[in-house]
Amino acid sequence: MKVTNLCKTYATKTGEKVHALKNVSFDLPSSGMVVILGKSGCGKSTLLNILGGLDRFDSGDVECFGKSLMSLSRKELDNYRNFFVGFVFQEYHLIPELDVAENIALPLQLQGETDTEEKVKSALQQVGMVGFDKRKVEELSGGQKQRVAIARALVKDPKIILADEPTGALDSHSGENILKILKWISQEKLVVLVTHDREFAEQYGDRIIELADGVVMSDSDRSYQETDTEEKAKLQKSRLPIKTAFKIGRSNFQHHRNRLTWTILLSVIAFSLLALSLSVAFLNPAHVFCREIIRSDMELTAIYKLHWYRPENVVDQSLDRFLGDDGRYNEDVPMTMEDVEFLKSLTGNSYSLVYTDLVFSFQDYIAASLNQQNEARRQNPEICYANCADGYIAMTEEECEKLGLTVIGELPKNAGEVAINECLFNIFAIKGLIEGGTIFELSSYEDIIGHKIPVHPGRIISNGPYYSSDPSRIKTITGVVITGCSRKCFNEHYAPEDRSTSQNWETYHEKIFVCEDYFDEYTYALCAIPQDRTELKEMVNFILGYEENNLSYTFVNKLSDGFYDSLEAASLLKMLFIYLSVIFLFFAMLLLSNYIFSSMQRQTKQIGILSALGAGFGDLCKVYGSAIVALCSMIAAITLVLQVLTTGWFNNYLQSITRYLRFSLVRLNLPASLLLIGVIAAVAAAGCLIPLIHIRKFNPTAIINKGQIK
Ligand code: ADP
Ligand code: MG
Repeated sequence: MKVTNLCKTYATKTGEKVHALKNVSFDLPSSGMVVILGKSGCGKSTLLNILGGLDRFDSGDVECFGKSLMSLSRKELDNYRNFFVGFVFQEYHLIPELDVAENIALPLQLQGETDTEEKVKSALQQVGMVGFDKRKVEELSGGQKQRVAIARALVKDPKIILADEPTGALDSHSGENILKILKWISQEKLVVLVTHDREFAEQYGDRIIELADGVVMSDSDRSYQETDTEEKAKLQKSRLPIKTAFKIGRSNFQHHRNRLTWTILLSVIAFSLLALSLSVAFLNPAHVFCREIIRSDMELTAIYKLHWYRPENVVDQSLDRFLGDDGRYNEDVPMTMEDVEFLKSLTGNSYSLVYTDLVFSFQDYIAASLNQQNEARRQNPEICYANCADGYIAMTEEECEKLGLTVIGELPKNAGEVAINECLFNIFAIKGLIEGGTIFELSSYEDIIGHKIPVHPGRIISNGPYYSSDPSRIKTITGVVITGCSRKCFNEHYAPEDRSTSQNWETYHEKIFVCEDYFDEYTYALCAIPQDRTELKEMVNFILGYEENNLSYTFVNKLSDGFYDSLEAASLLKMLFIYLSVIFLFFAMLLLSNYIFSSMQRQTKQIGILSALGAGFGDLCKVYGSAIVALCSMIAAITLVLQVLTTGWFNNYLQSITRYLRFSLVRLNLPASLLLIGVIAAVAAAGCLIPLIHIRKFNPTAIINKGQIK
């Protein structure tokens, strides 16, 4: 080992320059005890750290085993420490999480050796500590600790042992013991001992190099041995086994257990909410619909065609609830053969066209609709199906007479005409009738005859913004049928609190009266539900996604009301949950990374010791990464379990706030789960890597003396 013109300058925090070493040069033999002697602050430690590859220098060079330390990269310097240098520190720097044998085995493990037992035993023997292998570090005296530290330096059979005031913290008896051991080692290896104690130096040193203010004052050069037998160095990569890495790293989490518990708890809550938010955000409506259709065993579904339009005269604000998200209304429009052909070409399904089922001949009608209504009310008492314009009825004058209904004006005679019921008239009478943007006041039944109103097949008609723009839907009013239901009577029967008592209500009170040939158009297409899952998905995707020229298609079946209803809820929730996701994500990341970061900070010294022993960046990542990965895996696992519960709870909640939803809308889905795991992994990686990268900017001794790291 050859040191030439070594210079090292430190910059202090105040900006002052300290010349710790000035042009230091000497040769070192391959064995023997070389003592570097000098007063405190003269540069001894600086010199030793440079020789051991723990610190960089400004100029000059250190040549050993055919390599110049100046030219080594950071990685190579790690490996140099790992394979060639055994360091003994004044404060021992053992790792408290590991027992004696494990501390000693550490450098071997860093070298990638797995079978360490024999070597550890022999190292313990050399320092006179046989039988102490399972002891904990805290249970040892200072002298014993230092002997373990020497064994740790010895075990990897390094070329040189560097000892920086190894007796500084010991009583004189233990100190002498240590020096004797080092002296004995120096028969075979080069031992460089730093001390300020001249007596020790003269007693044990084969050669004394005296430093003062960074300059070599004297060099005894006693019993100097030539160094020409030096072999060339081969630098190998260090490899720490995961098991040891985990053992050191997990100690991170053994302190401050309360804080750890809180962190896990809060992180799990935050991540669970994140998971739920992601499940909602990644909700695939087509997927949900298909799943429910398959589960329902439905064989047929109706497809209606919808026309979307913007109302021109918005008079009645209460009808705003019919407005879609985009400020448009929709109305059913007739299905044609062209629609059928189009649907067929796209979805490969066959369709049949159907007339609306809301036209009944009189006799069948009353019985059927009464049953229907009773059944509907029984299933869903909070919903009132009836209103003053729900469905159509074709009645003759004789039939009206038989029921005691009076017709003011006439019953309709062709498809362009309708007669309205008394209730509907009363509503128009209160609100006024809008026709072509003008509001007409009505004072008697006769006043409404000849006016035009929009009529939707199978749907309500209304005197407001829900106003058809399709001219074929505009019908002329020919008369008013007095059903014996006044406005007051209507309110009595349909007021929310009285709904349950209106069971015997004869439903012609709410019908639009039309003639037999009123419907000459198909209302919807009926098609078989594909048995093949992918075909069904394609069809559902198409129907849900299609809109052209303000025309779209929609499913009408026993699931569709709930489905579209919940879609609306879901699309609102989706936005909300995307924002919530970001907030929870931020919160969870902050919480977890803060914990990881601060626990890493507590471990700064350990990182320094491991670096000093030659652990590379990869090893350090293993040490801290393995524990963090374990922590994060635990959080991820609990979160995924909780996800099942929160999803269940959320589905119940959704069902309670939506009217028709009868199925679970939100499902655990793969993208959400993967993203969640990804986020946790990213937090783990960042929490581990950022502090490590920061710390690695400093040399190992600086890291050990923590104070120097901001
Ligand atoms: P010794 O080990 O002989 O007591 P050192 O080698 O530790 O002395 O220090 C030599 C000189 O360099 C001292 O003046 C010390 O104050 C200075 N020094 C050591 N380390 C640093 C540092 N990281 N920053 C600034 N000055 C330092
Ligand atoms: Mg010192």
